[in-house]
Amino acid sequence: MKYRPYGSTGRDVSMLGFGAMRLPTLEDGNCDYEQAVPLLRRGIDLGINYIDTARGYINGTSEVAVGKAIKGYDREKLFVVTKIPSNDIKNSVGREWRRQLEEQLGRFDMDYIDLILFHGLRWDAFEEHVSRPGYALEAARRAQAEGLVRHVGFSSHDTADGIVRLVGTGEFAGMLVQYNFLDDHNMPAITAAAEAGMGVTIMGPVAGGRLGVPGSVALPGEGLEALRLPDLALRYVWDTPGVTVALSGMNAFEQIEENVASAEHTTRMSDAEREQIRRILEKNRRLTELYCTACGYCMPCPNDVNIPENFRFMNWHRVWGLTEEAKDAYSKLSEEGFHAAWSPQKITGLSAEHCIQCGVCEPKCPQNIPIRKQMKEVAAALG
Ligand code: SF4
Ligand code: SF4
Repeated sequence: MKYRPYGSTGRDVSMLGFGAMRLPTLEDGNCDYEQAVPLLRRGIDLGINYIDTARGYINGTSEVAVGKAIKGYDREKLFVVTKIPSNDIKNSVGREWRRQLEEQLGRFDMDYIDLILFHGLRWDAFEEHVSRPGYALEAARRAQAEGLVRHVGFSSHDTADGIVRLVGTGEFAGMLVQYNFLDDHNMPAITAAAEAGMGVTIMGPVAGGRLGVPGSVALPGEGLEALRLPDLALRYVWDTPGVTVALSGMNAFEQIEENVASAEHTTRMSDAEREQIRRILEKNRRLTELYCTACGYCMPCPNDVNIPENFRFMNWHRVWGLTEEAKDAYSKLSEEGFHAAWSPQKITGLSAEHCIQCGVCEPKCPQNIPIRKQMKEVAAALG
């Protein structure tokens, strides 16, 4: 494993981070500790020391799994990151923020958290209440002074401009944002954060579920050796100036081992490889409309449409030209058990034709995807 300094914190972290949002679950939707703990421990044994979770992941049981997994390891060598939502003013009140922090420490059964992030922080929320006396930032500073948290940062889906403003406050030791080779709109924020001495962690280095394709797909090369995912996607992120850690939401031993191997063997990309990726990036600009990370927040759909799976198959068609595979997979949507193999959250449901355009899903999507419009396009392309 290769390690990098996490901004100015004085800590070295593994350049591959273990995202604990997609750990195996039981029927009731809670974490299956018997499966999840050995996976996390395998990652730690292979050198991963950066572990990312959040208050809301897997109904709070992701934090419990992480706490169980790290027992017996040298705590000082690990860098455990979790998040508390603060955009809602009720959550942002200092007392409430503190109550949540203490509850989370209890779930982990830990004395301190290495990095606490304001989850999905928006600039307007920071300005309007989070930064005000009596609210979340003050509570976080107090917790830091008491040794309950070592560093304070944020994750964000705000605009790049909003993130640059958050960076500019000088309040944060690190941030977690999206970036990958199909979507580099956060590059100005990454540069600003690195210049400010912050650690920069990237979520969605493989574009979430968007680039999740069956097997290992070669990018269309023109006289170049075929490039393979997700190795390529991770290398692209690690190779970007300013990036410290690439997070991968891992839930299988092979995936952990492959990603660790990528981290160990990563080399700087050749100019030809970068150029090849740039061309694909340009060709696929339109995909920014369909930036589905398979988070599942839009679910359930009242008409039982499996929104993330429909988008996943659409991207096989759109990004990779795997139209036959996409149509085949789409036709199987609704077959019992079919989705479990692909969907990290084991979301089940129907194909896009069943969308009744009610719009219930759209306000719940952090990527602001025009889901109704996209569902029509999916049905037209794959139905
Ligand atoms: S708009 Fe379509 S996909 Fe969204 S909730 Fe309504 S039926 Fe489901
Ligand atoms: S909420 Fe948005 S990003 Fe998340 S699965 Fe639904 S459509 Fe995709």
